[in-house]
Amino acid sequence: MFYRESWVQVDLDQIKENVQWLRSQTNRQFIAVIKANGYGAGDASVARAALAGGATMLAVSSLDEALSLRYQEITAPILILGVVDPAQAELLLQYDLTVPAVSLEWVKELIQVPIKGLKVHLKVDTGMHRIGTEKVAELQAMLSLLKANGADVEGIFTHFACSDNPDNQMTEDQAARFEAVVDALKTPFRWVHSCNSDAAVHYPKAPGNAVRCGLAMFGVTSYLTELKPCISLYSRLIYVKQLKAGQPIGYGATYTTQGEEWIGTLPIGYADGWIRRHQGRSCWIEGETGEFVGRICMDQAMIRLPHAFPVGTKVELIGPHIPLEQVAQELGTIPYEVLTLLSDRLAKVYI
Ligand code: PLP
Repeated sequence: MFYRESWVQVDLDQIKENVQWLRSQTNRQFIAVIKANGYGAGDASVARAALAGGATMLAVSSLDEALSLRYQEITAPILILGVVDPAQAELLLQYDLTVPAVSLEWVKELIQVPIKGLKVHLKVDTGMHRIGTEKVAELQAMLSLLKANGADVEGIFTHFACSDNPDNQMTEDQAARFEAVVDALKTPFRWVHSCNSDAAVHYPKAPGNAVRCGLAMFGVTSYLTELKPCISLYSRLIYVKQLKAGQPIGYGATYTTQGEEWIGTLPIGYADGWIRRHQGRSCWIEGETGEFVGRICMDQAMIRLPHAFPVGTKVELIGPHIPLEQVAQELGTIPYEVLTLLSDRLAKVYI
């Protein structure tokens, strides 16, 4: 139940179908990446849909995100992608969470406490230079120490820096480095993974027996038309008025009515992630177009309407008529940023 009429609509069946399709295309294990509260769509709901579609592991960015899933009774394997404080080993074991081993120094700290049974994936830095190590000798030493202390080193992974560009030589170079490291370690890892969504879709010869996909699950159409969009953003008019020419709108009076204009107000603003850069952009209202005029406020935004509409009329901000990719492009950013900016204050409606 919610009373402020701005909401994110998430099609869980479509997420499931997208995961099924991605699994059949890639023919590998599927790790569903549901960082940042499931890319803004709700971590546990997205997790359940992805698992129903055949995901066999989930991945999040932090211990806090992993615990959020466990508290919501998600029992599937969860890999944390970011660096976890080694002092939290007990918590990791208690909640059966999998961590990346990022350096020898990190492993040495980790083994100060009992880690028998702790699930670990080695993080190989093949060129992204964010976390992990590229040195085989260091990885070998990490592996030996972890095994000697009873950890279950079940996986190894890397992350591509340029997979959004299918022709980038860097992906080939990173893949070759990763394969060389995996070969050199001579260990039968159960999980070997390198691909995010872009690589999973566009780089089928990437190394590994699993893919780690986030955005593709939500059907961002720039990937492939078989994937269908799953996330929309809607609001409703809460106020409608007609103004004469020359009337200012909003903070800073940055817009002035050109003639007699119908102005509607929506209960959404930058505190919802609908940032001020949306000023001047369009929304879709019953087959017609509205334009965000005046500055977006913290909780409200004004749109110029083509004519009068009743209070309560539904307005599409992201959806079938205004795809996420278009919104991102018009804002000069990427779909990830648009989605993850959407704040928890927005209600979520699952269909
Ligand atoms: N793997 C890692 C290490 C990531 O950081 C991310 C997301 O940022 C992903 C996989 C998923 O990426 P995508 O949403 O492009 O599939």
